[in-house]
Amino acid sequence: MEPTHSCKALVLHCIDFRFQEQISEFLGKKFPQSYDRVVLAGGVKELLENGERSITLKNLEISSRLHQPKIIVLIQHEDCGAYGGSKAFGDFFKEQEFQNSELKKAEALLKQQFSQPVEKYLVRLSGEITSLF
Ligand SMILES: [Zn+2]
Repeated sequence: MEPTHSCKALVLHCIDFRFQEQISEFLGKKFPQSYDRVVLAGGVKELLENGERSITLKNLEISSRLHQPKIIVLIQHEDCGAYGGSKAFGDFFKEQEFQNSELKKAEALLKQQFSQPVEKYLVRLSGEITSLF
């Protein structure tokens, strides 16, 4: 059965209040009024910890089934408390490398379940949003 309504994107990111406005603005420009949003502490963290049993995956599956998003967007951020904050990494380069690797692991896991392309981003405390490949 064809869905009666569909959206452009399915987005997964962290709960941290410091980043919500930047993320909303970014998504609003990219996918105006056309994205589903799954928000959990640590962004992709719960997905990577629990894999097929994760509540994250369950939510992504529901969105994908009901709203047929064309793309999946993963957004991690600087100084994420779920990972112990920036202080757990020593410097930003190490933190960025770590979050990049989290995003790549999450992308690989999602590729097994979903056919949509996955975009990966990191938000800085400055508000800057960088795309990771
Ligand atoms: Zn966070």
